[in-house]
Amino acid sequence: LFAGETEFVKGVVAMSGLPPADRLEVCFAGRSNVGKSTLINALTGRKGLARASNTPGRTQEINYFTAADSHYLVDLPGYGYANAPLPVVEQWQKLLKQYLSGRQTLRRAFVLVDARHGVKKVDEEIMSLLDSAAVTFQCVLTKADKVKAADRERVLDQTRTALSRHPAAFPEIVLTSSEKGDGIPTLRAIIATLE
Ligand code: GDP
Repeated sequence: LFAGETEFVKGVVAMSGLPPADRLEVCFAGRSNVGKSTLINALTGRKGLARASNTPGRTQEINYFTAADSHYLVDLPGYGYANAPLPVVEQWQKLLKQYLSGRQTLRRAFVLVDARHGVKKVDEEIMSLLDSAAVTFQCVLTKADKVKAADRERVLDQTRTALSRHPAAFPEIVLTSSEKGDGIPTLRAIIATLE
């Protein structure tokens, strides 16, 4: 799946701009700075494909990428900017709700959580949105290389507890480090087996 070329397709700001639903897709969500761009780049093996665009308040786009012509990888805008203007937040929440509940070909959402910080309130808000939209989601812990082995179990436990509150959560947690490559093959395999 990830052996072929990954291409940027388009940035979408409204439902009318979504590409035709002609293949399966997975989406990636997470707080700004969680390591989402880096993870998508690690998955696809293309540095700089997903731009680390961290400017608060800029137009929030849903970015579409193709993986081997058989899947779309969908990069959702980062959330949790401390001082994003309210209209921007509201516009993004509206588009996100429409997207999650209206996209037939969406097979799974990956909710990225920084392994150092664990699941935060804003992450749980996204998880609740996914519950409402009945989109199965899987938690991906990022930056595992920054967490001592001794602290990993604690973060995993906290994450498991948070996930137990969400009916749409897939129980398996993927621990990743884009820096070291840990968990990247696992995540690729998960995406490749979705039907
Ligand atoms: P985004 O806002 O979620 O797209 O986050 P970025 O991908 O831009 O990453 C935010 C910061 O975290 C950058 O400085 C990255 O270099 C760093 N980062 C991302 N992934 C990892 C990782 O696996 N390990 C470490 N140590 N740093 C990472």
